[in-house]
Amino acid sequence: MRLKIRNGTLITTRGQTREDVVCHDGRIEHVGETSAEPIDEEIDARGLLVFPGFIDPHVHSRDPGLTHKEDFEHSTRAAAAGGVTTLLEMPNAIPPVTSSAIFEDRAAQHGRVASVDFGLWGLALGTANLEEIAGLFQAGAVGVKLFWGYALHRVTQTLVYNLGDESAENLIQPPGNGDVLELCREVARVGGLLAAHCEDRGLIEAAERALGHPITSYAEMLQARPDTAESVSIAIAAELSAASGCRFHVVHTSSARGIQAVRRAQAEGVRLTAETCPHYLAFSDADFAELGVMMKVYPPIRSQRDQSALWDAVRDGTIESLGSDHAPHTIEDKALGLASAPAGVQGVETIGAVMVDAMLRGQLGAQRLAWILAEGTARLYGLYPRKGALEVGSDADFTLVDPSARTVVDQRRLHSKQPQSPWHGRELRGRIAMTILRGEVIARDGEPVGPPRGRLVRAAHGPTDEFSRRNALAFTAELDAAVTPEIAPATVFVASDDPPEGTRT
Ligand SMILES: [Zn+2]
Repeated sequence: MRLKIRNGTLITTRGQTREDVVCHDGRIEHVGETSAEPIDEEIDARGLLVFPGFIDPHVHSRDPGLTHKEDFEHSTRAAAAGGVTTLLEMPNAIPPVTSSAIFEDRAAQHGRVASVDFGLWGLALGTANLEEIAGLFQAGAVGVKLFWGYALHRVTQTLVYNLGDESAENLIQPPGNGDVLELCREVARVGGLLAAHCEDRGLIEAAERALGHPITSYAEMLQARPDTAESVSIAIAAELSAASGCRFHVVHTSSARGIQAVRRAQAEGVRLTAETCPHYLAFSDADFAELGVMMKVYPPIRSQRDQSALWDAVRDGTIESLGSDHAPHTIEDKALGLASAPAGVQGVETIGAVMVDAMLRGQLGAQRLAWILAEGTARLYGLYPRKGALEVGSDADFTLVDPSARTVVDQRRLHSKQPQSPWHGRELRGRIAMTILRGEVIARDGEPVGPPRGRLVRAAHGPTDEFSRRNALAFTAELDAAVTPEIAPATVFVASDDPPEGTRT
């Protein structure tokens, strides 16, 4: 099977070019050259931007376990519809992925229903599963995730944050900093990647005590989960990383203070990277009046000032990768009120469209987008250059974007099991026109097509695939300078100045 995508504008971190791409048996065979081999299928991408397939590294599909909220079939269909060709599944299903044996079970289970390719996270419990860490990376885990400050329930195998609610003998206690350092040393030894939810539990408990009652307003939620809890936790992470050489990734960074802590560590050469999520870039506390409890996430969406700092960090490369933190709950869950409703919002289907909209509004360059949603993410998680690249030999994964169209988000048309989106009703610039996975179209105009054909992708971390952050920063600093600041479809991607069909050679 040979597929040709012609007349599109290829967008990578290196630039934008008008070139055709030929794919053969799921891989990219030629870029920009005419090939003599017969073509089985052609896609005319005139007027479209052709990105490397978007990667969402932060998805909670709740499967197995809380499948009344979401499952892998639904989350991967949503991903495909939204232009995501690879998602990385978080390990905190029930049971969580704490060993290579569970990793293989989970891979087999998900492989039967996946509409997009997927990688799997392992769960790190500090010293409680230290001997499993090497095996998880050998199996191809994209990283191990530490839910810092959370305990694991021995019987239900669920993460427990409110430790007072449970008797101690039922809990695998949250690791102390000494245990986390030991974990860092082990992750460093095997050349892996450790990621953590960074909010200091002691600071949150003190803030809750100071408040003195369950939260009754969004302002009180921000008081109870202050930005200092995030920045202190990141500062500790930086010290543990410095002491061990462990690559440490801060997921869902939410605050200006948190970003400052990341910058300090990076300026010192500490191997600390950071993620943020579209909801922190799109919303602020001012949106609570309209969105209500739906926008409750941990760490919380904060002020406009925090949002601006996160945008700066996206543009200057402090943020390495974006993830949706797709974490659906039922409408009933979210109706429990601000104090009791669980934290989490869905986003795997909208991450691409929301970031394309931001690009078309001039908030970030197209090449930066190719970095944080594809190449940078693939490199971070040991998937490059198989994923995240438009190179000969890479998987033929593409996200095709129509910059001149518009998208109105309609949560009733989304494919998650619990369609409840904070972007519902918003009009976004641009449109995810087509999603192509290993040379086959898996979604068109927001609708999945064809049978599920996603596969497990095993990460290859370790010395040979190791990514030099210093080089990355020097490289990405040039990205935005090189790119048209605001891509105006009328000036850059106009079709009318093309030679007519058939006259190009
Ligand atoms: Zn998460």
